[in-house]
Amino acid sequence: MHRFNDLTDAQLQAKATTMLRRFFGYTSFRPRQLEVITAALRGRDTVVLMPTGGGKSITFQIPALILDGITVVVSPLLSLMRDQVDALIANGIPAATINSLQSDDENRSVTRALGAGHIKLLYISPERLLADMPRWRPDLPINLIAIDEAHCISRWGHDFRPDYTRLAMIRDTRPDIPIIALTATADRLTRDDIARQLRLQDPLTVLTSFDRPNLSLKVETGSSLRRRIATMTSLIDRYPSDTGIVYCLARKTTESVSAELKKAGYAVEPYHAAMSADRRMEVQSRFRSGELQAVVATVAFGMGIDKSNIRWIVHNNMPSCIESYYQEIGRAGRDGLPSETVMFYSVADLITLRKFADESGQAAVNMEKLKRMSQYAEARVCRRRMLLSYFGETMDHDCGNCDVCLSPPVRHDASIPVRKALSAIIRTGEEVGANMLVDILRGSSRADLVAKGYHNIKTYGAGRDLDAATWQSVILQMIQLGIVDIAYDRSNKLFVTPYGREILFSDQPVMLARPDDMAHREKARKAAPAERRRPSIDPMTVLRDLRNRLAAKEGIASYMVISDPALMAIAAVMPASLEKFAAIEGISDRKAVAYWRPVAKELARHFKQYKPEILHSRYDTLFLLRRGNSPAEIASLRRLSPATVYNHLFDLYEAGAITDSDLPGIVDPAVYRSVINLYLSEPKENFYDSIEGRYPDGLVRFILAIARKKGHIPPAST
Ligand code: ADP
Ligand code: ZN
Repeated sequence: MHRFNDLTDAQLQAKATTMLRRFFGYTSFRPRQLEVITAALRGRDTVVLMPTGGGKSITFQIPALILDGITVVVSPLLSLMRDQVDALIANGIPAATINSLQSDDENRSVTRALGAGHIKLLYISPERLLADMPRWRPDLPINLIAIDEAHCISRWGHDFRPDYTRLAMIRDTRPDIPIIALTATADRLTRDDIARQLRLQDPLTVLTSFDRPNLSLKVETGSSLRRRIATMTSLIDRYPSDTGIVYCLARKTTESVSAELKKAGYAVEPYHAAMSADRRMEVQSRFRSGELQAVVATVAFGMGIDKSNIRWIVHNNMPSCIESYYQEIGRAGRDGLPSETVMFYSVADLITLRKFADESGQAAVNMEKLKRMSQYAEARVCRRRMLLSYFGETMDHDCGNCDVCLSPPVRHDASIPVRKALSAIIRTGEEVGANMLVDILRGSSRADLVAKGYHNIKTYGAGRDLDAATWQSVILQMIQLGIVDIAYDRSNKLFVTPYGREILFSDQPVMLARPDDMAHREKARKAAPAERRRPSIDPMTVLRDLRNRLAAKEGIASYMVISDPALMAIAAVMPASLEKFAAIEGISDRKAVAYWRPVAKELARHFKQYKPEILHSRYDTLFLLRRGNSPAEIASLRRLSPATVYNHLFDLYEAGAITDSDLPGIVDPAVYRSVINLYLSEPKENFYDSIEGRYPDGLVRFILAIARKKGHIPPAST
C-alpha cells in the first residue's frame, strides 16, 4: 500500500515535526524516529529495534495522529496499558484500552467509541485482539497495527508467549493494514523470527544503538549486607523525591532488605510473586505515584513499570544473564536524566546462580550465559564497551561513566593471600565454604569454627591484614581464574583445582585486581546527605509539590503531569509567559494550557522577583489557534465547550487580535458561505430549524457575528 503520494518525504516529515511539537512538546526527533514514521505513513511494514527508553512509542503514535482512523497497539503488558493511555490523554490524544483488567461495560463502551470515530489509538492485549478483531466491522478504519514487545513472538527470545504466534492471523483478516513491530531485544535470530512469523512484506528494519549513556554502571564484589544497605540509603538520600528499585534473587531477601531500609526511616516496600495480587497492585501504584522511595523486588517487578523518573537501580544480587541485567538497569532514567546503577556480586550469588542454571533443564546454555555475566562483573575494561559488544555493537572509546573508567583497577601481586587461602582450604580437608574460609583466615572465634578445631590450623588468623570484603574479592577472583572451584554436591565447599595445586607448589606470581579503597569511598559518600538540608524554598521543591497536587487531582502519576526534565527546565528558566512556558521541551499544547496558570501563580507566590504575564483565558485559545489547532481541537485540549471557544474567538476578532487572514483556520470558507446564503434566503425561524445540529455549537453564532461585522448580513435588529 502506498499513501501520501502527493507529498514528498520532506513534506511528510514537516507534518510529523509539527505533530511532535503540538502533542509531545519536543522540538526534534531522535535518530531514526523519522525514518520509521515516514515508512509507517507510506504503509510499509517496519521492524523497530531500540533500547528501552529509546523512544519507540512515538514512532507509531505520530503516524496515528496524522493518519485518518485508528492505530491499534498490541501489548502483552496489561498493567502498562493504562499508564500509556493516561499519558496520551494527558497530552490531549484520544486513546483507550480494551483488556481483561477492565469491566465488560468499560470494554463495550470503548468498542462503541471506536465505531464512532472518537479514538485514535487503541491499546489492546493479544488475546483480546484475537477474539475481537474478527468481529469488528470489516470497514473499521484501522490505519496501522503496532506490535509492541514483538520479541514475545519468538521461541528464541527470552520472553516467549504462545498467544503472540497467533497474531499472524492479522495478515489474513486485514492484509491491507501495515504492521510496525517493536522490541528492545536485538539479537538476529529473534529479529528475523519476528518478520517471518508476522509475515511482514519487505520490512524496513531500523536498529539503533543500544547504548544508554545516562546510566552509570558500577559493580562491587564481596560487600557485606551492611555495606549494601549503606549504598541503598545513600542513593535514596541523594534522590529523596525520586524512586529506585532494588533487585534481589530471593523473596526472603526482599523482605529482609526492605525491613532494614524501613527501620532506617525510608518509604520502602518489598515486592515478589508470593504476595497477594491486591498487595502487589498496591505496592505498584504507590511506587508509580512516587509515594515510595524504593521497591525491593524480585525480577517479577518491573515488567509493568513505565515510570520515566526512576533514578537508580541496585542489584543486591547478580542477575543470571546479561540480557536480564541490561533490561533491569534499563528501567532507570528513561527520561534521559543521569541515573545510577550498582550491582553487588558475591560468592554466594555465584553458587546460587550456578545451581539454578544447572537445574534449569538447559544447563549448557544457561551456564554459558552466567559465565558471561560474571565476566562482566569481573571486568577490568570499560563496562559499557563490554556490554555493547555483548549486544553486537562496538564502541571505539571508553565511556567515562562506569566504575572501571572512573577508577581503573590496579593489578597487584596477590601471590601471598592466594597461597594463604589455598593452604587454609587444603588444611581443612577441603571441607569449608567461602564464608568459613574468610573467618578462618581472619581468625574469627565463631563457635562452629572452634568446634571443628579450625582454630588450630596453621593459617588460622594469617589473613587478619585484609578485611572480609577484600577476602571475598580475592576468593571470587580465584574462582574466576579457575584456581579453586565450588563443590555444589557437597554444600558448596571450596576445593582446589589441579591448576590451583600447581600454583600452590610453584613460585609463579598471581596478579589480582585490588578492590578499591572502600573506606575511602565510604567517607566521600558521607558528605552527600547535606544536600537534604537545602533551603526549602527553591523552585524545584515548589514545582514538585505543585506537580504532586495536580497529579492527585487528575488521578494520574506525577511524571505524567510534567516530566522530570521538563520540570527542571521550568525551574531553571522560570518562563514568564505562556509562549515561553510552551517552549520548554516536553510541554505539549495541552500541558501548556492546562498547567501554565497553576505553575505561574505558584512560582509568583514564592518568588517575589518573578513576574509572569498571565493573560485572560481567551488568549490561551489564541495561542492554541496559532499553533495550528482547530476550534474543535482547542475545545478538547482546554476541556471547554466549543461554544465557549467560538466566543473567545469572536472576542479576539473584535479586539483585533484575530484578523480576516486567520478566519480560514477557524471556519471552512464553504461552510461560511452556505450558512450566510441560508440565513439570507430563509425566514429566521426556518433558518434555525434547518441548521440545528448540523454544525458544532457556537459556530453558527460565530459566523453570523463575523458576517454582521463585515456587512455580509444586516445588523441584528434589537
Ligand atoms: P521505549 O518505548 O522505546 O522504551 P518511550 O517511547 O517510552 O521509549 O520513550 C522514552 C522517553 O523518551 C519518553 O519519555 C519519551 O517522551 C521520550 N522521547 C521520545 N522521543 C523523543 C524526542 N524526539 N525528543 C525528546 N524526548 C523523546
Ligand atoms: Zn566505561
